[in-house]
Amino acid sequence: MIPNLDWMQHAACAGMDPRAFFTVGNHARAQVNEARKVCATCPVREQCADWAIQTGERHGVWGGMSQQQLRQRRRRFTSRARTDTRAAS
Ligand code: SF4
Repeated sequence: MIPNLDWMQHAACAGMDPRAFFTVGNHARAQVNEARKVCATCPVREQCADWAIQTGERHGVWGGMSQQQLRQRRRRFTSRARTDTRAAS
């Protein structure tokens, strides 16, 4: 199935340097905070977060989430997927 990525056209970060959302070095915390400010204005945060989970993204700022929030959401998604699989069998 080809994923629908139309939501990306509406991203607040469209046209920005993607490196702003992948932090490195001594300024990582400040960089994350700046990235999350952009995400806070984004109308497609949910789609972005879902995309990160479904594609297994482990780095970067997605949907305005911290790394901890991303891990928590991934655990919920994985748990729900297992439950759905069991229910279907
Ligand atoms: S939530 Fe943040 S990273 Fe995701 S599309 Fe919007 S601005 Fe970009």
